[in-house]
Amino acid sequence: MDLPEKMRAMLLDAPGKPLRLAELPVSRPGPGQVLLKVHACGVCHTDLHILDGELTDPKLPLVLGHQIVGTVEEVGENVTRFEIGERLGVPWLGSTDGTCRYCRRDQENLCEHPQFTGYDLDGGFAEYTLADERYCFPLPADYDDVEAAPLLCAGLIGYRTYRMAGEYAERLGIYGFGAAAHIIAQVAKYEARKIYAFTRPGDTAAQQFALRLGAAWAGDSTQSPPEPLDAALIFAPVGALVVAALKATARGGIVVCGGIHMSDIPSFPYELLWEERTIRSVANLTRRDGEEFLALAPQVPVKIEVTTFPLEQAGQALEQLRDGKFVGAAVVKVE
Ligand SMILES: [Zn+2]
Ligand SMILES: [Zn+2]
Repeated sequence: MDLPEKMRAMLLDAPGKPLRLAELPVSRPGPGQVLLKVHACGVCHTDLHILDGELTDPKLPLVLGHQIVGTVEEVGENVTRFEIGERLGVPWLGSTDGTCRYCRRDQENLCEHPQFTGYDLDGGFAEYTLADERYCFPLPADYDDVEAAPLLCAGLIGYRTYRMAGEYAERLGIYGFGAAAHIIAQVAKYEARKIYAFTRPGDTAAQQFALRLGAAWAGDSTQSPPEPLDAALIFAPVGALVVAALKATARGGIVVCGGIHMSDIPSFPYELLWEERTIRSVANLTRRDGEEFLALAPQVPVKIEVTTFPLEQAGQALEQLRDGKFVGAAVVKVE
């Protein structure tokens, strides 16, 4: 095997600085690790929150990217799940301690000593990456590399968010119609729920996109839906949407915040929470979420709409995500 000594990677030196193309050594896999040749890596709002310093404790310098699709180039000692040449996906949850009270009670997403891909560990905006094989997923063959990438965070964490809306959510609002929403809207439609899509004011492209994917109604986030919602998923990092979503829900309504960071939530009268409405957040993912969602996606089947960027333009991809310049998911295509 002729593994190169060096690879190209987009490197974050410090929050607030633009990503820069760098040459880094290709690391060899340690025990339990696989070395992947990266084919594609999805772009996520979390990457922006790290870039902007809103998540305050990244490894530095850092290779961002936590929706990685690659093939195994080399395996470390004791690797048993995957073989050289196999394609797999690496998600945000890079490892856990396996021993804390959360891990022991089946909530590894809340682990007290986790390592996250593209935050504590170098991620996928690079030609190669290392991953702990226990946290990787085999990927459904129905999806090519760029289509599979957004399944790994937009899909997985979107799915966890959607599940938190509960079984009674017949009328489901989705605030922020980007990568996660476009995937989850298809799952929700498959499960016979009625979807109400809320976008930034004036973003008619995203509203049309939502209607094309089967939303019953699409409008902007300042509008009221035509009927009250049973639940609302918030994927946009805007705290004021929590209040807007509470106003839009019926009694017993559930508002689920799917992102890792949000601007402050404005104060609101208790009346909006009264009648057993719930606000909750969703943190990270468990491996079970991944297994369930990756089995479900090809059944729906979820179709992924992708805008691709070459590796050197990972920074532009992030800025376009910030500005809502495309519909669907952004993916960095490596090679
Ligand atoms: Zn993500
Ligand atoms: Zn733990």
